[in-house]
Amino acid sequence: MADLSRYTNSLQANRPNSRLACSFFMGTKMLQPELPVRWPELQQIARTVRNSAWCPYSRFQVGAALLTASGEIIAGCNVENASYGLTICAERTAACTAIAAGYQDFVAICVSLPGISVPCGACRQFLMEFNSQLLVLLDNTDHPLGTPPECVTLESLLPRAFRFQH
Ligand SMILES: [Zn+2]
Repeated sequence: MADLSRYTNSLQANRPNSRLACSFFMGTKMLQPELPVRWPELQQIARTVRNSAWCPYSRFQVGAALLTASGEIIAGCNVENASYGLTICAERTAACTAIAAGYQDFVAICVSLPGISVPCGACRQFLMEFNSQLLVLLDNTDHPLGTPPECVTLESLLPRAFRFQH
């Protein structure tokens, strides 16, 4: 049987490091970017497009609103599939719609869903293709419309992302 006491002791020995890591995290959190001025519009559109979501399996509606450098706002919702694996997230739907419409410079994206509103790993990598400094607005729909969403950079959500060129 494994000797767990050694493991427990090492955990306790590492506690000071954990505190350091925690204060470091709080320090980075203070560097959060400001919300883009059009965040209320992005929030409204992202929440509205949730109603278009095709999600008969999870019943989990997600909306995204992508702000382009030229000021366009492109909406996207999640589109599920019976195979599950072919499901496409709202963020990627919005990005693909924008690309198809001729927009490639993205400034911000608002992601609206109930609960912990963060993009999945696949969407982080997908969006990284276009702008590592993309502002990601994390909108929890459990809060009333008009509640300022948390704003972070895409890079902070996906450090050391895979790229062909750096
Ligand atoms: Zn996703």
